[in-house]
Amino acid sequence: MTARTTRAVRLAFPLARDVVTAVALEHGACIRPVQLRKTSLDTDEVEQVMVPCGTTLASVCPSCAERNRVLRAAQCREGWHLEAEPTASPGPSDDYQKMLCGKLADLCAEQDRAQAAGADTVELDDLIEVIEEELGNTGVRGHPDPSRGSAGIGRNHARRHRSTRRRQDAPELPGRKMNPWTLGRVYPGPNGKLYRPSMFITLTCPSYGPVEDDGTPYHPDTYDYASAAHDAIHFAALFDRFVQNLRRFVGLDVQYFAVIEPQRRLAPHVHIAIRGTISRTELRKVLAATYHQVWWPATSDVLYDGNHLPVWHDASRRYVDPLTGEFLATWDEALDAIGEHDEPRHVVRFGAKFDAQGVLAGSRDASRCIGYLTKYLVKQLGECHEPGSDAQRGHVARMVAALEYEPCSPSCANWLRYGISPKNPRPGLVPGACRGKAHRPEYLGYAGRRVLVSRKWSGKTLSDHRGDRQAWLLDTLGLSATEDNGHYVWERVTPADHDYLPATRRLILVVADRMRWKHALDEARRRARLAANSQPSGVRHEHGHALRAGHSDAHPGRVVPVAQYHRAARPQTRRPQRHPVPEGRRAASFPRTGGRPVVQAYPAARTAAHRARARQSFGNAVAASRPGGAAQVADRVASRTGEQP
Ligand SMILES: [Zn+2]
Ligand SMILES: [Zn+2]
Repeated sequence: MTARTTRAVRLAFPLARDVVTAVALEHGACIRPVQLRKTSLDTDEVEQVMVPCGTTLASVCPSCAERNRVLRAAQCREGWHLEAEPTASPGPSDDYQKMLCGKLADLCAEQDRAQAAGADTVELDDLIEVIEEELGNTGVRGHPDPSRGSAGIGRNHARRHRSTRRRQDAPELPGRKMNPWTLGRVYPGPNGKLYRPSMFITLTCPSYGPVEDDGTPYHPDTYDYASAAHDAIHFAALFDRFVQNLRRFVGLDVQYFAVIEPQRRLAPHVHIAIRGTISRTELRKVLAATYHQVWWPATSDVLYDGNHLPVWHDASRRYVDPLTGEFLATWDEALDAIGEHDEPRHVVRFGAKFDAQGVLAGSRDASRCIGYLTKYLVKQLGECHEPGSDAQRGHVARMVAALEYEPCSPSCANWLRYGISPKNPRPGLVPGACRGKAHRPEYLGYAGRRVLVSRKWSGKTLSDHRGDRQAWLLDTLGLSATEDNGHYVWERVTPADHDYLPATRRLILVVADRMRWKHALDEARRRARLAANSQPSGVRHEHGHALRAGHSDAHPGRVVPVAQYHRAARPQTRRPQRHPVPEGRRAASFPRTGGRPVVQAYPAARTAAHRARARQSFGNAVAASRPGGAAQVADRVASRTGEQP
């Protein structure tokens, strides 16, 4: 007979769901898998497939967030010290593409004639759309007729002329002849070794007032929250301008992998991995000459506030004054009203403090910097530094208050407060209630992308990198990526469906899957390690950046990329690091140069690193067998145009 337990004791027992979630986390499995129903059109067979949620936020799903972080780290590592130009020139067009283009030209001419004659063009519009889609499916980039494509919409109106005269308060920045190269310089060492250094740069916002070590202002009353809010909103544009200036000044197509995150004082700053080197003097010149002018209407006078707000006039689709019934100025009118001699509403600049250091390919520093770059990617900006004291909570609250009525974009509802109708107005806009991300506490004014990667960084998209990992996994396990030519219908299973599995059941399926994969991978790694130990000459680093292949006895004849082997068998240890640009008053005396390491190593947490490694991407193994969309469209084109490709 079991002993009686009280209700309180029973309540203290862990819930089954929590236990399963903990197990899933331990195995690096997604804790919010999405259930998909895969129905075969050939056999009517139904299979339930669990797909990882794929979030980038650790607060939502730690496993998926970590997988995404590791993927970004791989992307950063691959492009940083690239040894060959990443993009090839576009290939020639094939006969099918030419046929489609000819067809498109015919249809467009016919459409123009029909339009001129006032005839109905719905059928023709449809056909043109199908052909354009098919052209895209064949891998044609861009649009054959830019004035028709989505990129061309709105291009026809005349550009507003703004003076391009350099500001008097910014120094001149001479440009050089542009070279198309994107690779860094190679320096020969004394022993014939070649070195390929790159840069790790940190740029910050200017000072808004002195701050304590915890990031809170000494004098909250005089801290310039308004400028802090502006600068955060326009930070992405400023970074863009910096890259343009840098490229023009050094005369190279400089490539970068940049991550934007907040400092403790809540101002955004950017860590940039740059391929190749730039001297600190050059960098200082570019920074001094870089600014972004915001040509938006002035917001000095608050015209509408409280209950006195503009009202929507449905017939004209414009906002009117509630008392006089007069139309508010439209966005374009407000912009046109900015005169030749007016100053821009705001000029955004970087702060004078910056940090730059050279990083050698494959070095310890390179790994640490990559750890830095990706450290906070699993968190929202506002979650990177959790406020722990009243002073910090007050600082966050004042920053959010400064962002409340600050217009975040041309279509921000806050423009109504200053008597201007926002761009693309719609009913229901209320100043202070803009839905833009910039106003929310978790974004702290910066609503742009967290990771900014130049096009020729690694020459690959994030999905390409994901595909690489998937291919590596299959290769390590000795599996072949079988081409499944079956036809399937994929449907998301919702709680209303009869075959919807309870959350715990879904988790158990995912964990079982993970364990199976992990076991197979461990086995493959063990064999790879044995092979490496027996053949030391095959596994060697080439100036730290090994990519020499070794042979594995697990898969005779198969070449195992050594860098990937190292990543798999000997995970990079992540260490907590000190920040390169310290904040607060003491930072004023921070030396800008000095070859000293910017990061400080703490004892390695190997077990944590191993766990993190085990949680790494197994890829989305189920996403492989998708029926060919291109073939379907080709059928549609053929049936509608009566022509065979
Ligand atoms: Zn997930
Ligand atoms: Zn807004």
